[in-house]
Amino acid sequence: QTVWTDIFTWIEGKIEGSTPQKVMRFNDAPWSVDKVVKKTVKHFLWLLIGLLTGISFVAWFTDAYQLWVDLFSFNVAMFAVIVITAFTFGTYLFAGFMREQVCFWLCPYARLQGVMYDQDTLLPAYDAERGEPRGRIKKGQEQQDRGSCVDCHVCVAVCPTGIDIRKGQQEGCITCGLCIDACDSIMDKVKQPRGLIRYASYKELHHNDAPIPLNKRFRVYVYVVILFASLAGIINGFMTLSPTEFKVVHERQPLYVRLSDGSIQNKYTIKVLNKTKETIVIDFKLEGLEGATLHGLSTMSVAPGKIIPVTALVRVPEDAMISDLMPINFIGEVEDNSAIELHYSSMFIGPK
Ligand code: SF4
Ligand code: SF4
Repeated sequence: QTVWTDIFTWIEGKIEGSTPQKVMRFNDAPWSVDKVVKKTVKHFLWLLIGLLTGISFVAWFTDAYQLWVDLFSFNVAMFAVIVITAFTFGTYLFAGFMREQVCFWLCPYARLQGVMYDQDTLLPAYDAERGEPRGRIKKGQEQQDRGSCVDCHVCVAVCPTGIDIRKGQQEGCITCGLCIDACDSIMDKVKQPRGLIRYASYKELHHNDAPIPLNKRFRVYVYVVILFASLAGIINGFMTLSPTEFKVVHERQPLYVRLSDGSIQNKYTIKVLNKTKETIVIDFKLEGLEGATLHGLSTMSVAPGKIIPVTALVRVPEDAMISDLMPINFIGEVEDNSAIELHYSSMFIGPK
């Protein structure tokens, strides 16, 4: 969200003005040809980025090259069109208009942080004791008459979530530290020591306590255990990734067909995604349902990175149907590679 918001505001800054004041002046100005052109270009670029985001998301789950071919030949699946449209307008809305409101109200990160903090946690914080009373530097005023904060609002302007850190730690803070750098640069200019906004704990700021080393804090060990458990889960997930994806979808219309010889026929769409770098040849068979025979599909060849959908028909003699709903297993055996197993449990539907 932060990256997309930055890109959108960068485009806005380049077209409408580099500061919030310039953008406001541009928006308040009466409508003119120049204003219409600039607004059109801005919204076009925003929508274009949203569209590319949607296409990238869909490409993550399908053959990316085929997706681009389908897009240029206007032959994209309806579900992909819906997802791309949702992402296009979602990105346009979230990064173009809602911006930091998404961080505040939709992102779980701030809530997670709130749960993990305690009074010893180091966070970007404003040293109110040193900074107050804040105020702009006036000619002839002595430094001891005022705090270090010159009330320049630079820390607020750079904050991606629009927080005024001088009001205290807030749930929308993503601890990016931009306000620290911004304030340090102001302190350099007014010849004051850096660190008016700095990483400090609540206890350090309010009770002058020294920071507790990380190795003496129990919750740090708990977090380390959780972190390593998560990493182990991710590594295990990668190590046990299947080299293929195999799905069998039962066609709903019609649920079954009775053939002239009395046997019952069901139709399935079989999809195989080959994630290996070699072409694989798969021999299909059925298990688990007595008398079931496979038609329209026996062997399939799938190129690397390709996903192939095919239609398969399964027929079962009527006397083998002891129920209207019978389990059936689709098995795929990869030629020259017995390590890859394709297995999918589905249902065969007959008359009641
Ligand atoms: S950047 Fe520093 S000096 Fe400026 S308003 Fe923020 S805290 Fe005060
Ligand atoms: S660290 Fe500072 S700039 Fe970053 S989100 Fe928090 S208050 Fe805003």
